[in-house]
Amino acid sequence: MTKSGENFVIALDGGSGTGKSTTAKIVAKTLGITYLDTGAMYRAVTLVALDAGLPAEDGPAMDQLLENLTLGFDAENHILINGVSRESEIRGMKVSSNVSIYCALPSVRAAMTKQQREIGKRQSCILDGRDIGTVVFPDAKYKFFMVTDLNVRAERRYKELLEKGEKVTYEEVLANLAERDRLDSSRANAPLKKADDAIEIDTTHISIQQQVQKILDYVGVVA
Ligand code: C5P
Repeated sequence: MTKSGENFVIALDGGSGTGKSTTAKIVAKTLGITYLDTGAMYRAVTLVALDAGLPAEDGPAMDQLLENLTLGFDAENHILINGVSRESEIRGMKVSSNVSIYCALPSVRAAMTKQQREIGKRQSCILDGRDIGTVVFPDAKYKFFMVTDLNVRAERRYKELLEKGEKVTYEEVLANLAERDRLDSSRANAPLKKADDAIEIDTTHISIQQQVQKILDYVGVVA
Protein backbone atom coordinates (compact mmCIF):
# COMPACT_ATOMS: atom_id res chain seq x y z
CA MET A 1 0.00 0.00 0.00
CA THR A 2 1.15 3.55 -0.62
CA LYS A 3 0.99 6.26 2.05
CA SER A 4 -2.44 7.16 0.66
CA GLY A 5 -3.58 3.58 1.33
CA GLU A 6 -4.00 2.43 -2.27
CA ASN A 7 -2.72 -0.88 -3.62
CA PHE A 8 -0.06 -0.52 -6.29
CA VAL A 9 1.59 -2.66 -8.95
CA ILE A 10 5.27 -2.84 -9.87
CA ALA A 11 5.74 -4.26 -13.37
CA LEU A 12 9.16 -5.84 -13.92
CA ASP A 13 9.74 -7.06 -17.47
CA GLY A 14 12.73 -8.37 -19.39
CA GLY A 15 14.30 -11.52 -20.81
CA SER A 16 15.35 -14.63 -18.91
CA GLY A 17 18.50 -14.37 -16.83
CA THR A 18 18.34 -10.61 -16.36
CA GLY A 19 17.85 -11.10 -12.60
CA LYS A 20 14.16 -10.21 -12.58
CA SER A 21 12.89 -12.92 -10.27
CA THR A 22 15.68 -12.66 -7.67
CA THR A 23 15.28 -8.88 -7.65
CA ALA A 24 11.48 -9.06 -7.47
CA LYS A 25 11.57 -11.47 -4.52
CA ILE A 26 13.82 -9.15 -2.50
CA VAL A 27 11.81 -6.04 -3.43
CA ALA A 28 8.59 -7.81 -2.42
CA LYS A 29 10.03 -8.86 0.93
CA THR A 30 11.45 -5.40 1.62
CA LEU A 31 8.20 -3.62 0.80
CA GLY A 32 5.98 -6.31 2.35
CA ILE A 33 4.07 -6.87 -0.88
CA THR A 34 3.19 -9.96 -2.93
CA TYR A 35 5.51 -11.34 -5.60
CA LEU A 36 4.02 -13.01 -8.66
CA ASP A 37 6.30 -14.98 -10.98
CA THR A 38 4.29 -14.96 -14.21
CA GLY A 39 6.93 -16.95 -16.10
CA ALA A 40 6.29 -19.82 -13.66
CA MET A 41 2.63 -19.79 -14.70
CA TYR A 42 3.49 -20.16 -18.40
CA ARG A 43 6.03 -22.82 -17.52
CA ALA A 44 3.35 -24.71 -15.55
CA VAL A 45 0.93 -24.72 -18.50
CA THR A 46 3.74 -25.99 -20.71
CA LEU A 47 4.68 -28.77 -18.28
CA VAL A 48 1.10 -30.01 -18.03
CA ALA A 49 0.68 -29.92 -21.82
CA LEU A 50 3.94 -31.83 -22.35
CA ASP A 51 2.99 -34.39 -19.67
CA ALA A 52 -0.29 -34.97 -21.49
CA GLY A 53 1.43 -35.10 -24.90
CA LEU A 54 -0.70 -32.22 -26.16
CA PRO A 55 0.56 -30.37 -29.20
CA ALA A 56 0.07 -26.59 -29.04
CA GLU A 57 -2.00 -26.78 -32.24
CA ASP A 58 -4.74 -28.79 -30.51
CA GLY A 59 -6.92 -25.82 -29.54
CA PRO A 60 -9.88 -27.68 -27.97
CA ALA A 61 -7.57 -29.90 -25.89
CA MET A 62 -5.63 -26.85 -24.71
CA ASP A 63 -8.91 -25.18 -23.72
CA GLN A 64 -9.82 -28.27 -21.71
CA LEU A 65 -6.39 -28.30 -20.07
CA LEU A 66 -6.76 -24.64 -19.04
CA GLU A 67 -10.23 -25.30 -17.64
CA ASN A 68 -8.94 -28.11 -15.41
CA LEU A 69 -5.81 -26.30 -14.29
CA THR A 70 -5.49 -24.59 -10.92
CA LEU A 71 -2.28 -22.71 -10.30
CA GLY A 72 -1.07 -21.43 -6.96
CA PHE A 73 2.14 -20.68 -5.06
CA ASP A 74 3.34 -21.95 -1.70
CA ALA A 75 4.95 -19.79 1.01
CA GLU A 76 8.33 -20.05 -0.75
CA ASN A 77 6.83 -18.90 -4.01
CA HIS A 78 7.11 -22.35 -5.54
CA ILE A 79 4.46 -23.17 -8.11
CA LEU A 80 1.61 -25.50 -7.17
CA ILE A 81 -0.11 -27.23 -10.07
CA ASN A 82 -3.50 -28.52 -8.95
CA GLY A 83 -2.14 -28.38 -5.40
CA VAL A 84 1.11 -30.25 -6.10
CA SER A 85 4.55 -28.58 -5.98
CA ARG A 86 6.32 -29.03 -9.31
CA GLU A 87 8.86 -26.23 -8.99
CA SER A 88 11.96 -28.15 -10.10
CA GLU A 89 10.19 -29.65 -13.12
CA ILE A 90 9.04 -26.30 -14.50
CA ARG A 91 12.65 -25.00 -14.43
CA GLY A 92 14.17 -27.82 -16.52
CA MET A 93 15.38 -27.50 -20.10
CA LYS A 94 12.46 -29.52 -21.50
CA VAL A 95 10.00 -26.87 -20.37
CA SER A 96 12.38 -24.02 -21.29
CA SER A 97 12.63 -25.36 -24.82
CA ASN A 98 8.86 -25.45 -25.31
CA VAL A 99 7.41 -22.65 -23.21
CA SER A 100 7.68 -19.94 -25.88
CA ILE A 101 5.45 -22.02 -28.18
CA TYR A 102 2.69 -22.73 -25.65
CA CYS A 103 2.74 -19.28 -24.08
CA ALA A 104 2.08 -17.62 -27.43
CA LEU A 105 -1.35 -19.29 -27.74
CA PRO A 106 -4.12 -16.69 -27.36
CA SER A 107 -6.12 -19.01 -25.07
CA VAL A 108 -3.14 -19.50 -22.75
CA ARG A 109 -2.31 -15.78 -22.63
CA ALA A 110 -5.94 -14.85 -21.96
CA ALA A 111 -6.26 -17.33 -19.07
CA MET A 112 -2.95 -16.35 -17.45
CA THR A 113 -3.50 -12.59 -17.93
CA LYS A 114 -6.91 -12.89 -16.25
CA GLN A 115 -5.44 -14.66 -13.21
CA GLN A 116 -2.54 -12.19 -12.98
CA ARG A 117 -4.92 -9.22 -13.05
CA GLU A 118 -7.12 -10.77 -10.36
CA ILE A 119 -4.11 -11.31 -8.08
CA GLY A 120 -2.64 -7.87 -8.80
CA LYS A 121 -5.90 -6.07 -8.09
CA ARG A 122 -6.39 -7.67 -4.67
CA GLN A 123 -3.13 -6.46 -3.13
CA SER A 124 0.05 -4.49 -3.74
CA CYS A 125 2.18 -6.66 -5.94
CA ILE A 126 5.38 -6.93 -7.97
CA LEU A 127 4.95 -9.08 -11.06
CA ASP A 128 7.84 -10.18 -13.26
CA GLY A 129 7.36 -11.25 -16.84
CA ARG A 130 7.45 -10.07 -20.44
CA ASP A 131 4.19 -8.17 -20.91
CA ILE A 132 3.32 -6.87 -17.45
CA GLY A 133 3.92 -3.19 -18.18
CA THR A 134 2.49 -3.34 -21.70
CA VAL A 135 -0.53 -5.67 -21.45
CA VAL A 136 -1.32 -7.08 -18.01
CA PHE A 137 -1.02 -3.81 -16.07
CA PRO A 138 -0.49 -0.99 -18.58
CA ASP A 139 -1.47 1.45 -15.81
CA ALA A 140 1.01 0.04 -13.27
CA LYS A 141 2.30 2.72 -10.93
CA TYR A 142 5.91 1.60 -11.47
CA LYS A 143 7.40 -0.06 -14.52
CA PHE A 144 10.91 -1.39 -15.00
CA PHE A 145 12.52 -3.21 -17.91
CA MET A 146 15.72 -5.17 -17.33
CA VAL A 147 18.29 -5.79 -20.04
CA THR A 148 21.53 -7.78 -19.81
CA ASP A 149 24.20 -8.94 -22.23
CA LEU A 150 23.15 -12.36 -23.60
CA ASN A 151 26.42 -14.08 -22.63
CA VAL A 152 26.12 -12.89 -19.03
CA ARG A 153 22.53 -14.15 -18.88
CA ALA A 154 23.56 -17.54 -20.29
CA GLU A 155 26.39 -17.83 -17.72
CA ARG A 156 23.92 -17.17 -14.89
CA ARG A 157 21.34 -19.67 -16.16
CA TYR A 158 23.99 -22.29 -16.90
CA LYS A 159 25.34 -22.08 -13.33
CA GLU A 160 21.82 -22.29 -11.87
CA LEU A 161 20.99 -25.39 -13.93
CA LEU A 162 24.29 -27.10 -13.05
CA GLU A 163 23.64 -26.43 -9.36
CA LYS A 164 20.29 -28.16 -9.76
CA GLY A 165 22.01 -31.17 -11.29
CA GLU A 166 20.66 -30.67 -14.82
CA LYS A 167 22.86 -32.13 -17.58
CA VAL A 168 23.18 -29.26 -20.00
CA THR A 169 25.92 -27.46 -21.91
CA TYR A 170 26.60 -23.73 -21.90
CA GLU A 171 25.94 -23.65 -25.66
CA GLU A 172 22.48 -25.22 -25.16
CA VAL A 173 21.57 -22.65 -22.55
CA LEU A 174 22.81 -19.78 -24.73
CA ALA A 175 20.87 -21.07 -27.75
CA ASN A 176 17.72 -21.53 -25.67
CA LEU A 177 17.84 -17.98 -24.31
CA ALA A 178 18.44 -16.51 -27.77
CA GLU A 179 15.62 -18.54 -29.29
CA ARG A 180 13.19 -17.64 -26.49
CA ASP A 181 14.07 -13.96 -26.89
CA ARG A 182 13.41 -14.27 -30.61
CA LEU A 183 10.05 -16.02 -30.21
CA ASP A 184 8.94 -13.91 -27.23
CA SER A 185 9.79 -10.63 -28.99
CA SER A 186 8.29 -11.50 -32.36
CA ARG A 187 4.94 -13.01 -31.33
CA ALA A 188 1.84 -11.02 -32.29
CA ASN A 189 0.17 -11.37 -28.90
CA ALA A 190 1.78 -9.54 -25.94
CA PRO A 191 5.41 -9.66 -27.14
CA LEU A 192 8.44 -9.06 -24.94
CA LYS A 193 8.77 -5.30 -25.24
CA LYS A 194 9.73 -2.34 -23.08
CA ALA A 195 6.70 -0.20 -22.24
CA ASP A 196 7.26 3.38 -23.42
CA ASP A 197 7.05 4.61 -19.84
CA ALA A 198 9.20 1.86 -18.25
CA ILE A 199 12.56 2.63 -16.67
CA GLU A 200 15.32 0.55 -18.24
CA ILE A 201 17.87 -1.07 -15.94
CA ASP A 202 20.97 -2.63 -17.50
CA THR A 203 22.00 -5.42 -15.14
CA THR A 204 25.08 -6.60 -17.07
CA HIS A 205 27.59 -5.08 -14.66
CA ILE A 206 25.64 -4.58 -11.44
CA SER A 207 24.89 -6.86 -8.51
CA ILE A 208 21.45 -8.08 -7.45
CA GLN A 209 21.66 -5.74 -4.46
CA GLN A 210 22.25 -2.80 -6.79
CA GLN A 211 19.31 -3.86 -8.99
CA VAL A 212 17.10 -4.02 -5.92
CA GLN A 213 18.31 -0.64 -4.70
CA LYS A 214 17.57 1.04 -8.05
CA ILE A 215 13.95 -0.11 -7.81
CA LEU A 216 13.61 0.74 -4.13
CA ASP A 217 15.07 4.21 -4.69
CA TYR A 218 12.57 4.91 -7.41
CA VAL A 219 9.59 3.49 -5.54
CA GLY A 220 10.66 5.20 -2.32
CA VAL A 221 10.77 8.60 -3.96
CA VAL A 222 7.37 8.43 -5.56
CA ALA A 223 5.29 6.22 -3.24
O1 C5P B 1 10.65 -15.71 -16.80
P1 C5P B 1 10.83 -17.11 -17.33
O2 C5P B 1 12.09 -17.27 -18.10
O3 C5P B 1 10.63 -18.16 -16.32
O4 C5P B 1 9.63 -17.27 -18.37
C1 C5P B 1 9.49 -18.44 -19.14
C2 C5P B 1 8.83 -18.12 -20.47
O5 C5P B 1 7.47 -17.77 -20.24
C3 C5P B 1 9.42 -16.96 -21.27
O6 C5P B 1 10.49 -17.34 -22.10
C4 C5P B 1 8.22 -16.53 -22.10
O7 C5P B 1 8.13 -17.35 -23.23
C5 C5P B 1 7.04 -16.82 -21.20
N1 C5P B 1 6.50 -15.64 -20.51
C6 C5P B 1 5.63 -14.82 -21.18
N2 C5P B 1 5.02 -13.79 -20.54
C7 C5P B 1 5.28 -13.54 -19.25
C8 C5P B 1 6.19 -14.34 -18.54
C9 C5P B 1 6.81 -15.38 -19.21
O8 C5P B 1 5.38 -15.03 -22.36
N3 C5P B 1 4.64 -12.53 -18.64
